[in-house]
Amino acid sequence: MSETIFDKIIRKEIPSQIEYEDEEILAFKDIEPKAPFHVLIIPKKDIPTVNDITEADAELVGKIFIVAAKLAKKYGIDEKGYRLVFNCNEDAGQTVFHLHCHFMGGRKMLWPAG
Ligand code: AMP
Repeated sequence: MSETIFDKIIRKEIPSQIEYEDEEILAFKDIEPKAPFHVLIIPKKDIPTVNDITEADAELVGKIFIVAAKLAKKYGIDEKGYRLVFNCNEDAGQTVFHLHCHFMGGRKMLWPAG
């Protein structure tokens, strides 16, 4: 598995604005926010893309959603709504090859997404 900038963020070698952390999951503010609340929720385990998720990761991946719901509550937007996005590979515009969930909220979202 190749090293990404998110591995450095996990190891605190480069700074980030951490919104949530436990043994398996880290959530930090996106450096180029596309919404008032734009946080990346990542597993600390090195999983490059959605294609690389295995059955053994089911619980871990489930925790990403649990953290998303926690963040929505923390920001007070759980009832109003928010969007979760996983970009996978080139057509989706994935640029960092470490699994991440974009948590976006605080504004009205358009659909379909671009
Ligand atoms: P994606 O295009 O889905 O791979 O998303 C990667 C996201 O990582 C983009 O929204 C970037 O703005 C974000 N990003 C890249 N470098 C950093 C960083 N050092 N700290 C926080 N977010 C970052």
